[in-house]
Amino acid sequence: MPDYDYLCQTCHKRFVRFIPYQDYGKVEVACPHCGSLEVQRRIGRIRVTRSEDSRLESFSDMDDLDGLEEDPRALGRMMRKMSSEVGEEMGSEFNEVVDRLEAGQSPDDIEQSLPDYFDDGSDAASGFDDF
Ligand SMILES: [Zn+2]
Repeated sequence: MPDYDYLCQTCHKRFVRFIPYQDYGKVEVACPHCGSLEVQRRIGRIRVTRSEDSRLESFSDMDDLDGLEEDPRALGRMMRKMSSEVGEEMGSEFNEVVDRLEAGQSPDDIEQSLPDYFDDGSDAASGFDDF
């Protein structure tokens, strides 16, 4: 016998009713908690993924990422903000990149004049040891 998952619209409690197939749609389903007939069948289990919601919220904070490719100044601001949030000294090259971005220089131009910096992020840390 199939069981149907219901949500009471009056007291907002969930309950399960066992209803034979042939009776489904014919029998009145009343809430066992408050007796209300204002009940709604829940189709399956709708997972409200909270983690996804919060992820979307954090993304909405980054709306200004749109068009960064075309806006070096915005990119520079974002990189400066990121570095201040990380709280670490990012190195003189990082600061130079940010300065140039904020001056309106295109990322491509900066990449060409600072090939080492953009070459491979994983090598950057070891490079700083040479100072
Ligand atoms: Zn109820």
